[in-house]
Amino acid sequence: MRIILLGAPGSGKGTVAEGLRSAYGFPKISTGDLLREAVREKTPLGLVAASQMGKGGLVDDATVLALLRERLARPDCREGYVLDGYPRNLSQADSLDALGLAGPEIVFDLQVSDEVVLERLANRRTCPNCEAIYHLVNKPPKKAGVCDVCGAALVQRNDDTPEVIRERLKTYHAKTEPLVARYAAKGDLHRIDGGRAAGDVIRDVRRILETALKGPARAGE
Ligand code: AMP
Repeated sequence: MRIILLGAPGSGKGTVAEGLRSAYGFPKISTGDLLREAVREKTPLGLVAASQMGKGGLVDDATVLALLRERLARPDCREGYVLDGYPRNLSQADSLDALGLAGPEIVFDLQVSDEVVLERLANRRTCPNCEAIYHLVNKPPKKAGVCDVCGAALVQRNDDTPEVIRERLKTYHAKTEPLVARYAAKGDLHRIDGGRAAGDVIRDVRRILETALKGPARAGE
């Protein structure tokens, strides 16, 4: 099973992916996390990616696909996975189709307004070590500035500044939003109001997922 999470930056993709990981064990595959890891490790690929990421644009398709393929080849992805941040444009969606898939595919579009995005990202803090996500008001860490999961010092991502957020939103509307129509036409798309509390969003996603998982099994009985 492949679960694709679409949505603007700050729409909650990472939080929902984490909720699905803890409920079903599907690994969360975030191309943003993979890229940040390459940047931290200063790999040749990371050095190229860093400048695009800092400007709020997209890293080139070939680089991201190479990272993704490598990650999906690991054994934990065999039964299924949740994609957070891929595909980000139509050509990436074609590449994903070309990768093939044994089980079903289901797509969720987490819909939020630009105002919600700006508010959430200004208050977002992340763990640079384990990528856990916090919100200073709605989901603060137990101890200020410290990750609940691994104890590392939390940071504000350097692309969570107002200018870069505006660019990321532009990139989203121009390149990623057209994917919603593509998946809707294929019949795989579920639209979710992502402006609500994380628990409510995850509950709705799980309900749809469980219905979808049961559907084909019943039809095959
Ligand atoms: P994210 O953590 O998903 O917000 O991604 C952070 C940044 O990484 C984005 O603003 C892009 O510069 C880059 N990025 C993440 N995923 C992709 C992708 N699928 N294609 C191109 N660039 C990406």
